[in-house]
This record gives sequence, C-alpha cells and structure tokens, in this order.
Amino acid sequence: MVEDDPDITTALRLLFGSAGYDVVHAGDGRAGLREAYAAHPDLVVLDVGLPEMDGWSVLERLRDISDVPVLVLTAHGKETDKVRGLRSGADDYLTKPFANAELLARVEALLRRSTDATSWTNQVYDDGVLHLDPTQRRVFVNSQEVRLTPTEFRLLNALVRHAGAVLSANQLLSQAWDDPTGIGQERVKFAVLRLRRKLGWTDPDSSPIESVRGFGYRYRRP
Ligand code: CA
Repeated sequence: MVEDDPDITTALRLLFGSAGYDVVHAGDGRAGLREAYAAHPDLVVLDVGLPEMDGWSVLERLRDISDVPVLVLTAHGKETDKVRGLRSGADDYLTKPFANAELLARVEALLRRSTDATSWTNQVYDDGVLHLDPTQRRVFVNSQEVRLTPTEFRLLNALVRHAGAVLSANQLLSQAWDDPTGIGQERVKFAVLRLRRKLGWTDPDSSPIESVRGFGYRYRRP
C-alpha cells in the first residue's frame, strides 16, 4: 500500500488487516518502490498523488520489473486519470472517496484473477558485455554507462528478459510504450535502430539485438 494520507492509511490498514492480509505500507513513491522490490507483494494499492515520486512514475517503474496486480487510487474529479491509469498498466482503479467494502471486493477480484506466479525480475542482468540494473534503471556496455530514455530502457529490458526468444513488434509495443494505442510498428523499428546505435551495436551481423525478418527482434547473449 503506497499512500501518504494518514487517515486513509489507518483505515486501509484496519480494513486489510481484519480481512487477513499482511500489509506493507509506504508513505511516498520512492519508499513504495523500495518496499515493493524487497517484499514482492501479491498486489499493490497505489495512490496517485504522492510525495517524492508520483503514482504514475511508481507504476511505470514497477512495470519494468513485475506484472504484479496494481489498483490505482485516483483523486475525485480527475476522470482522465482512470484512462491514464489503465493505459499505463494499472489493473483497476478506484476514485476517492471510496467505500471500504468496494475496495476490498476489487482487491479480492484482482487476487483471484492473478496467477500465483506474479513475477519479479528486479535482479541485475549481466552477461559480461551488458549490465542492466532495473531498480536503478542503469545500463552499462563493457562497463561504460549508456543513457537511455525510459522507452529505450524498457525495450532493452524486455528483449534481455526474454533473451533467445523472438518478440514481435506488437509485444514490444505493449511492454515498452506507456500508451501503445495508435502507435505503428514502424516506431518499434526506429526505436530499435536508435537503441542499437546508443549501445554501439550497429553491425547487423554481430549486434546482440537481432532483427528476425517477418517475426520481430531477439536479444542474443554475446
Ligand atoms: Ca495522496
């Protein structure tokens, strides 16, 4: 539970506690991410308006490393937040003020829907050439740091986490773009070209990021 409002925090602790859940609470976005990396919760209740790092950034960073169900709490009167939340990878949302019974019912529904195998991949990836740290969002090639945009980072992370497998442009779109609606597959192609250039992997014969004609892209461990 990532929530900065003390009254709501107290109420939710009581609610989830009496329903038999173990609750880990963080009062700001950064602490929320740290707790999630450490505790690997089965579900995250995430407020949008948070100090340090807002809920949208927390959600984006969480999605780098996990498919954990996330229920976003949006502020009253911000209807556009719902759309944004669902497009950014939230599984459900509730607008404040909400009825406790409804929150509990939605949490239970999400937990029923989710598989037991919620995956967390916050461990560092390192194959001797590429070093990728998802919690710090840092990338090194042969020990030299490379600065990537959030989309480029997610693109590389998706490829690396499925090393050896071919990912289609559509799969990459859904994993790397905040809002893939209306984005053509050409965008993926150009993003891959830019990513290769930044990483110094432009030679098509030796690049660890391979294009597989007609299918998509594959990361090949160097
Ligand atoms: Ca708040």
